Formats: sequence, structure tokens, C-alpha cells
Amino acid sequence: MPDRKNCDKIKNMKNEFETIIGLEVHIELLTKTKMYCSCKNTFGAKENTVICPICTGYPGTLPTVNKKAVELAVRAGLALNCKINRRFKMARKNYFYPDLPKGYQISQLDLPLCENGFLNVNEKKYFISNIHLEEDAGKADDKGVDHNRCGIPLIEIVTEPCFNSAEEVLTFLKELRLILIHLDISDCKIEQGSMRCDVNVSTHYKNDPVGERCELKNVSGFNNILQGILYEEKRQREIISNGGSIFRETRRWDIGSMKSVLLRSKENTEDYRYFNEPDLQLISLPENFIDKIASNISMLPNDKRLYYKSLELSEQMAEDIINDIQKDRIFCACIKLNICAPKTSAVLTNGIISEFLNHNPDFFNNNSDKCKEEFCLSLCKIGKLKEDNIISSSSVKILFDSWTKSGKDISCLVKELKLEQDSDIERVKTLVRQVLQNNQKSIEAYKNGKTNVLAFLVGQCMKLSGGKTDPALCKEYILKEIH
Ligand code: ADP
Ligand code: MG
Ligand code: ZN
Repeated sequence: MPDRKNCDKIKNMKNEFETIIGLEVHIELLTKTKMYCSCKNTFGAKENTVICPICTGYPGTLPTVNKKAVELAVRAGLALNCKINRRFKMARKNYFYPDLPKGYQISQLDLPLCENGFLNVNEKKYFISNIHLEEDAGKADDKGVDHNRCGIPLIEIVTEPCFNSAEEVLTFLKELRLILIHLDISDCKIEQGSMRCDVNVSTHYKNDPVGERCELKNVSGFNNILQGILYEEKRQREIISNGGSIFRETRRWDIGSMKSVLLRSKENTEDYRYFNEPDLQLISLPENFIDKIASNISMLPNDKRLYYKSLELSEQMAEDIINDIQKDRIFCACIKLNICAPKTSAVLTNGIISEFLNHNPDFFNNNSDKCKEEFCLSLCKIGKLKEDNIISSSSVKILFDSWTKSGKDISCLVKELKLEQDSDIERVKTLVRQVLQNNQKSIEAYKNGKTNVLAFLVGQCMKLSGGKTDPALCKEYILKEIH
């Protein structure tokens, strides 16, 4: 008789599912102009005003490849450890949709620009099959069609089916997004659609062969991706558990009902009748094109994590900076100036600068380089004054605020606002004695082990001096007097 326990074990194993996920990530590139014409690459213009005969596919027009777009795509390929093909081919992908006036998209099929890459995140290696260049389509909804987005340069990053959970996908996408932002490849603004994802999900019993996949088209936003995968996992598992089969489908993630909805069944590469783009034959990059890009690539977020650690920033401090590109740019500029310690700059960046950027979200886009330089210089001067105990913590914000309003020289402002702390030892001693005399009970409490009384006593010194005394010195003398 078979062992009952063993039978259960086999049954449980049979019931254990494994999920496999592969991604196609669409990224709009940060170029000035579109992929094949000289229309501006912008967001938010009035409908159908940023178009021309080329991006709307008038017969007889010819595309020209945007060199900057190729450069950014190569940069992405290098950052993701890909092999870059110096010779690559563009291909026509034919399909009909109201937002595609040309009736085809110039994309790539065989011989894409980048192939066989990988990205290590949290000690797991995720494989990139290829990165290809393509152009965006327009937008169609129940209000009408807007062709402004037609021809905006895109890269599509295609991964291997190497993810096993929604969490892994999110971790990967967040790191990918950071890399693309830090290298100025894309702004990856999820709400504006400059980073969108097709998510392929399949599931199978652990001991069975890999299952057929369903593709969730064009999901944007990390939470939608997470919910979409979890929903698909559950839906597919239920069908399989009930003895059914999964067929290849293209589905849509519906935000309203939080469900995936069938768009079309089984869609193959053949359906697009790809062929080599006759107007753009084989493209060859100049000899030193790739090397030049490689030598100018800036530090990746992961290298920054290590670098910032070496500057004695805590992990959290570093992460808070790296996750906000404007803060990161400000912090980097401050380190270069080398006026105050990196840690001081980091504290300011995550403190008053965070708050400032919340009120001025487009500070970096709207200001000149000179203005940004001025900004960082003043910030470092404030940091140095704090480091040298010339001003107190509370004065830091007062000084920064009045600098942003007036633009006056920092040392003038310190004098004008009388922010200099009093570090005169005799005056500090007198102040401390006076405070202790008025707070005998607190001294007793301190002696009985209530050490938090110390902060209260320092506070009293600050209050009595009108915020002008040096709190560190006060603390030192209070301790001396009490012991
Ligand atoms: P095709 O050539 O048929 O379009 P690809 O092999 O290029 O398919 O894969 C397209 C996407 O589907 C890729 O992101 C890939 O990782 C993903 N994918 C392939 N097989 C699976 C699978 N079994 N489960 C989930 N995703 C898959
Ligand atoms: Mg695709
Ligand atoms: Zn155009």
C-alpha cells in the first residue's frame, strides 16, 4: 500500500504553481525632435499641432534617422550590458489603427541595435533579449485622434522570460527606470506615458512544461503592473486547476474594474507582415560612435550607492537622493564644489532642498546652468556656516528662505538677519548658570537618571538667548556644571 503521507506530498507538489513573466518596456527618448522628422518631441501641446507630412505618413515623404535617438539607445544598451550592433536594420511593422496614420511603424525585427544584455538587481541577473529602436503611435480615444505623439523616438527593451513574481518585476523596473533617468535617456514619466510596459505572464505546475502566455498590453504605473500580474496569475491558475488550458492572448488591464480583459487571441509576428524598411536600408554606425558614447556614460545608480557610502552617507540618505534626480544633481554639484562636507550637503539636500523642490517641481528644467550653480554654491556656504557652528539648525532654513527670496550674498544675509550664534565662552557660562539656577528641579531629575532633561535645559538656554547661543557649547557647560 502506498504511503499516505507520500501521496499527499506528491499531490501538493503537483499543486504548486510557478509563474514566468517577460517584459517589453517602451521608453520615450529625451531627444529634441522626433525619430524620422524635425517635429519637436514634446508633451502636452494642443492636439494635432506638432505634426508634419513625414510623421503622418504622406505618400512620397522620406524618413531620416535621428542621430541623437540612436545615441541614447546605444547608451541604454551599454548600461544594460548589451552587445551593440554597429550595423542594424529598420523594419516596417504593418498594422491598422486610428492612431497610426502611416499604417505601419518603422521598428526593428532582425538585427536590432542592441542584443543579449543583462541587469543585476538584488543579486539576481535578469536577461535582456534585445533593445530596438522604434517610433511611437498617436493617441486615440472616444474624444478623437491626436497625432502629436506619432514618430516620437522609442526604445523597446525586451527581456527574457526570467521573472518569477510580480515583486521581481517591480524591483527590476524601478532600477531600470532609475538608470534611464540618471543617464538622461528618458524622463520615464509614468503619468505622461513615457514609460509603458507590455507584461507577458504564464503559469504552470512546477513539474509541467512552461505554460502558454497572455500578454497584458500597455500597462502604465507600477501599481497597475503589480495588480495586473497578480490578477493574471490567479486567473490562469484557476483555469488550470479546473482542468482548462491557457491560450495565447493579448489582454488589456482595465483600471476601473481591476481586471484583465480579452483584446484579441493569438497574435503572431507574421500578422504584422514585417519587411525591411525600403526607405532606410542597412544602417552603419561610424567607427568610434559606440566608444565615444561609452566613454561619456555617467555613473549608474548602483555605483552611486557605493560612492555615496564611501562619503559616509547612510544607506537611507543615499537612497533618498538617488531616487530623486533633481536632488541627485544638486548633491553632485555640491560635492564638486567641496565647500562643506558631503554629509552636510546630503542633510541639506534631503531637508530644505526636498521641501523647496516640492514647491518648485520644475526647478531644474526651468533654470539656466548659471542659476543652478549659484544655487548650489549658496547651499554649500550655508552648510559650511552650520558645520562651523556659526549658525544654528533653525537658522539654516531662515537663511535659505531669505536667500531664495532676495538672492543676496550669504554672508551679508547672516549679518543682516543677525543669525550668528554666540560662541563667546564667558557669555555661554553666564547663560548656563542662570538657566541652572532657575531649574533646580531639573538638575535633581537629571541626577536621578532622567537624562532627557538635558535637552530641556539646552532649550532653555536657546530661549533665554533669543536663539543666538551655540547649543553644543551650552550642553558641554551644563554637563560640566552639573557634575
Ligand atoms: P514572440 O517572438 O513570439 O513575440 P518573444 O520570444 O519575442 O515572443 O517574447 C515576447 C515576450 O514574451 C518577451 O518579453 C518574453 O520574455 C515573453 N515570454 C516568452 N515566453 C514567455 C512565457 N512562457 N511566459 C511569459 N512570458 C514569456
Ligand atoms: Mg511589443
Ligand atoms: Zn513630423
